[in-house]
Amino acid sequence: MIENKPFMEFGDFKLYSLSDGCFRLDGGAVFGVVPKVMWQKQNPPDENNRVLLGLNPMLICKGNLRIIVDTGIGNKFDNKFKGIYGIDKTTTLHESLEYIGLTEKDISIVINTHLHFDHAGGNTVNSADGGVKPSFPNARYIVQSGEWEDALASNDRTNASYLLEDFIPVMETGQFELIDGNQEIEEGVSVFKTSGHNKHIQLVKIDSKGKSAIYLSDIIPTTTHLQYPYITGYDLYPLETLKIKEEIIEAAVEENWLLIFEHDPQFKMGYVGMEGDKPVFKNINI
Ligand SMILES: [Zn+2]
Repeated sequence: MIENKPFMEFGDFKLYSLSDGCFRLDGGAVFGVVPKVMWQKQNPPDENNRVLLGLNPMLICKGNLRIIVDTGIGNKFDNKFKGIYGIDKTTTLHESLEYIGLTEKDISIVINTHLHFDHAGGNTVNSADGGVKPSFPNARYIVQSGEWEDALASNDRTNASYLLEDFIPVMETGQFELIDGNQEIEEGVSVFKTSGHNKHIQLVKIDSKGKSAIYLSDIIPTTTHLQYPYITGYDLYPLETLKIKEEIIEAAVEENWLLIFEHDPQFKMGYVGMEGDKPVFKNINI
């Protein structure tokens, strides 16, 4: 596929945009202060005003090193949850891995950009004994310690986004590693902590042989959000989002970074250029 290219050789790495299906959120919440007349053509809402969003975890491979960044929405939810969020698991993370010849056991590291259910849902899976267990038995999982604390101490605004069964079972097996701030996880794979969407979100940057790629999580969740005013209504610190978005786009234009979008239902990877003072998405036409 051209416009949905899910795989790229990238220096020493292979980068894959995986799929755990898609879901829907209220368009007003997804696009924040931007009026519906501006976004509805590019993002047609359903009868409940919900727009389609992809669930696109990223896989970074180099030899036996296999890092998954975010784990999709998983499959522990009930029908009510499925209905509210319009979840469509036509493709699953498991199938995405299988398609490239891997299983959950092959994953060495899981990086959670943050712990919202659409990013950490696939961290865990129902087990045969009626409990919940980590989906990736041989992986260490990495999240910012501040995000871990916020997930455990959620408030009335944030608690719908955090489901304890997505992350507590991983801590119970000793697989969760809490880190503080920016860190190189493996050579060429670094996390950058920022605030904006929440207080402690981490983005993942890949640098190899003079090329850079960035996994944008919910700071720029879709190509539509490349436009500066498009900041989700979920963001706790929208002006922080704006600031980091401007910095990322400026660097991405100047150094030709590959951008990887976690929630775009159509374009998983691409570049950004400027038309006047407006960022525009550039598709990968190869
Ligand atoms: Zn999200």
